[in-house]
Amino acid sequence: MTELHRNYIGGEWVAGASASPNRNPSNVDDVIGEYAQADATQAKAAIAAAKAAAPAWAAGSIQDRSILLDRVGNEILARKDELGRLLSREEGKTLPEGVGEAARAGHIFKFFAGEVLRLAGEKLPSVRPGIEVEVTREPIGVVGLITPWNFPIAIPAWKIAPALAYGNTVVFKPADLVPGCAWALSEILVKAGVPKGVFNLVMGRGSVVGEALVNDPDVAGISFTGSVGTGRAIAAKAIARMAKMQLEMGGKNPLLVLDDADLPTAVNCAIQGAYFSTGQRCTASSRLIVTAGIHDRFVAAMTEKLKALKVDDALAPGTDIGPVVDPSQLEQDQRYIEIGKSEGAKLEWGGERLNRGSNGYYLSPALFTNASNAMRIAREEIFGPVACVVRAKDYDEALALANDTEFGLCAGVVTTSLKHASHFKRHAQAGMVMVNLPTAGVDYHVPFGGRKGSSYGPREQGRFAAEFFTAVKTAYIAP
Ligand code: NDP
Repeated sequence: MTELHRNYIGGEWVAGASASPNRNPSNVDDVIGEYAQADATQAKAAIAAAKAAAPAWAAGSIQDRSILLDRVGNEILARKDELGRLLSREEGKTLPEGVGEAARAGHIFKFFAGEVLRLAGEKLPSVRPGIEVEVTREPIGVVGLITPWNFPIAIPAWKIAPALAYGNTVVFKPADLVPGCAWALSEILVKAGVPKGVFNLVMGRGSVVGEALVNDPDVAGISFTGSVGTGRAIAAKAIARMAKMQLEMGGKNPLLVLDDADLPTAVNCAIQGAYFSTGQRCTASSRLIVTAGIHDRFVAAMTEKLKALKVDDALAPGTDIGPVVDPSQLEQDQRYIEIGKSEGAKLEWGGERLNRGSNGYYLSPALFTNASNAMRIAREEIFGPVACVVRAKDYDEALALANDTEFGLCAGVVTTSLKHASHFKRHAQAGMVMVNLPTAGVDYHVPFGGRKGSSYGPREQGRFAAEFFTAVKTAYIAP
């Protein structure tokens, strides 16, 4: 019998209405633990606890808040190897990626420990003589944080840390597939001394716990990261009750490789951006838009590199690409590979189900060529180790293809031309632009987010996080 990991509601660790096992996608026979599954009543109790704790937390000492967040950050950093191992075991990204993500979560908490002390307002003269105007920021109240499975500790960190820093109380609902990191992070918060009710963990199904958060009038704001479909459904419900919301959703991020690109840089950016973390990143470069003069050399070099990548157990030394996260994501990846073939794209390499001796969801990284930007494999987010090469005649056509998408999270260009790099930075319709870097891989102290169908609401991370997690107040003072 494995240990039951409980939810944390109103300052108590409580069993769920049921429980479910957390399995390792590198080997599904490996059960990481049993995790509580809350029902709607428990979600309501967590919201009530957060509501009751909100006034005191909002009015409390900013030094206490800063110390708490710093303590959490230090603890995560001290335990990054253990947390990274847990992350890789439950999500399937490689151990170095897991440890890197855990460290990032630690740095995020430490960043917001500093931000607590830097929240500033403005004092201005009024247009009416003798009157003063003050613009200040206040907490919004109870926030519901709903996170996806693909960054099981970094995304929770970049929502929880600013939420608490700016004086809100939290109900955190992690993705059902990755309760392990969520629980470990929650335990760190509790041991660091987060006051009762200020932080609540409610593991359970999105359709149960997530829905309860979205629909409850006591939840002032919803910060969600996940798929476009779920994001749209949440938006419709949240707007019906005028809740504040912040949605980070999918991507179909282009990486342009121009004739003048340094070929090894282009291949490195494409391999890292498209396939690392098993391609399960919202910032993955799933569309490789390559100009005619370098196309054939690029495809040949990519294929060579892909053949050399090691797909294996996430925890095994030397693994480049771990497993796909679960059977339904694997089924989706394989379905899109068939769609690509039936649309007339050429499967240049990979896309095969692999057996690695353990009961895991292994897939070789797939590269399509002869793809057009109109094909479904170039338009829809697959969220797996699958990328397609779209040929463009020149930079202008490549830019037009890059922007011809319903998404707008990240866009990259590999070029040695200052003219093209500068033009692309200005004209790519994306929230984030990379020059000679993979589309995936961002800093934690600057804004994160996209345009068009990728994001809705204020940006996350860095000092821009204050936009969502605070409400602006304008005060007029007559002497
Ligand atoms: P989902 O949209 O399926 O789930 C995201 C979260 O929403 C989970 O916690 C899920 O719970 C919850 N949820 C599901 N249904 C509801 C509902 N009806 N009401 C409220 N909450 C609900 O996404 P995935 O977890 O599958 O994550 C993959 C997706 O996330 C990809 O499309 C990817 O592009 C996107 N993503 C976007 C990022 C960005 O910042 N733009 C970053 C990372 C990922 P449960 O797990 O229990 O179903």
